[in-house]
Amino acid sequence: MAIRALVWNEYEHERVNGLVGRLYPEGIHGAIAAALAVDAGVTVETATLDEPEHGLSEARLAQTDVLVWWGHRAHGKVEEKIVDRVQRRVWEGMGLIVLHSGHFSKIFKRLMGTPCALKWREAGEVERLWVVNRGHPIAAGLPEYFEIEPEEMYGEPFTIPEPMETVFISWFEGGEVFRSGVTFQRGAGRIFYFRPGHEAYPTYRHEQVRQVLRNAVRWACNPAPAWTAVGDAPNVPHDRAPVAIEAKGPRLHQDGEQGFR
Ligand code: ZN
Repeated sequence: MAIRALVWNEYEHERVNGLVGRLYPEGIHGAIAAALAVDAGVTVETATLDEPEHGLSEARLAQTDVLVWWGHRAHGKVEEKIVDRVQRRVWEGMGLIVLHSGHFSKIFKRLMGTPCALKWREAGEVERLWVVNRGHPIAAGLPEYFEIEPEEMYGEPFTIPEPMETVFISWFEGGEVFRSGVTFQRGAGRIFYFRPGHEAYPTYRHEQVRQVLRNAVRWACNPAPAWTAVGDAPNVPHDRAPVAIEAKGPRLHQDGEQGFR
């Protein structure tokens, strides 16, 4: 069965800035979707901020294996209840790929639990991405390093939790370095953060960037059924333990009680 990818974009820069609009007349989401559609094993749809429920209804997310997120100037417009919903689906097993300025999106900060801050500079530099985890599926088909020019600089310290895996480290012409491809798992859901993708440059036309996006969708897809009970916290009475035991000592709670949240 094909992997169902959904590319979400706030879709604002392209409509308010002529430079970005000329670079991406189909929208950044359109360029990313076209890159993913090259993989015959993936079906791709897109969603944007202005759609009802930001295009992320319960039903649509239930039919999504991997969500790709591009946001920047409109992070604050994303409704909390939609963030709750996406977070829940990640916990249940939906993959999430967060791109570039999405490091400050509500969903990424929520899932990381840290500031997710970094240094930055918009000076059209060379970015050299070193593949530091050569055997990782997200690096499949890539050379030892590849370059993007021009790109925006993002520099360390990047205040994320220690990643599960680091796939890419970027060096920039001005001297800074950055962990530009990192993975996490939250609940049953795999998360990949990928740094490149500044809206003022044609980064999503870059062949190796497009390859990384395709690899990441395949890596992030969890084919298991949604873990819908991921948030449940059931009480297991002593006589229903895997090995039946005698209850000992004082107790505060009754068998089967719901407990506090
Ligand atoms: Zn940027």
